[in-house]
Amino acid sequence: MNSRRDFLKHASLFALGGMLAGKAGNAVAAQPATAAVTKVDAAKRIGLQIYSLGPELDKDVPGGMKRLKQMGYQTLELAGYNNGKVRGIDMMEFKKMADDAGLEILSSHVNPPVREYTKENLNTIKEYWKKTADDHAKMGAKYLVQPGQPSTRSVEETKYVCEVFNEAGKIVKAAGLPFGYHNHDMEFAKVVPGGTEMKFGRHNKGEKVYDIFLANTDPSLVFFEMDVYWAVMGQQDPVEYLKKYADRIKLLHIKDRYVLGASGMMNFEQIFKQFYANGYTDYFVEVEDINSGHQFQGVKDSADYLLNASFVK
Ligand code: MG
Repeated sequence: MNSRRDFLKHASLFALGGMLAGKAGNAVAAQPATAAVTKVDAAKRIGLQIYSLGPELDKDVPGGMKRLKQMGYQTLELAGYNNGKVRGIDMMEFKKMADDAGLEILSSHVNPPVREYTKENLNTIKEYWKKTADDHAKMGAKYLVQPGQPSTRSVEETKYVCEVFNEAGKIVKAAGLPFGYHNHDMEFAKVVPGGTEMKFGRHNKGEKVYDIFLANTDPSLVFFEMDVYWAVMGQQDPVEYLKKYADRIKLLHIKDRYVLGASGMMNFEQIFKQFYANGYTDYFVEVEDINSGHQFQGVKDSADYLLNASFVK
């Protein structure tokens, strides 16, 4: 049993290292380039985290949304909410622009105004979630997600953050939305009791911040949106997390170093298979390099990758 488990683990790590990436790459390459967008592909429900477009979107939001629809995107996850506005535009106006382009706003990334969570600022955080949740419920969003990691330098601090996440979850749930948390790589660093910093590395003792989040948040109040690229950058296999926490990870950020599939370091085929096997379907493409001046191209190339991938429904 052990040797089989070790083998599977080994195989999985190979995939992370890109050694099996050729397998996924071949699956894509095996399709003729002319098969680009079939009718079946056009029905794929591809989402985009609009952070990917950076300032390029702000030049012409209605026009940019129409371009996204033409590329094959169907849903959006917002970024840039602030006090009833999204990127400086009234939320309901922003929603109308999406509606007019035929895009559905499913989710939104929002962060409370403080990074250090204390008993003293708990009310500030709660008030933030009340207004933010009400605003998003009014707009018709289906998920509300926190993407910024609060300060977690010790086990105790991390567990207090979990208490605050549960409180946020209650408030957001009362408004009719589920509350989720989105990771970067630092959540896979470890903390110790009484510690003063997070540390990466298998030789360091302690618990991973992400694992503490999973163990100490109430599944009825807090779900997880796993950014699979940042999980890999945190030296983890997202597929293992998807298997182990099949009912907690309900959304994905599908992301690569830049354009999807180009680096060879992401095993998207296995990630999608496990996510679907878990019973979930909503995900958002995210493309980095948001100030490149080529954001729309990166976002289009990433949509093409998914439209051509036989493992994406
Ligand atoms: Mg992300």
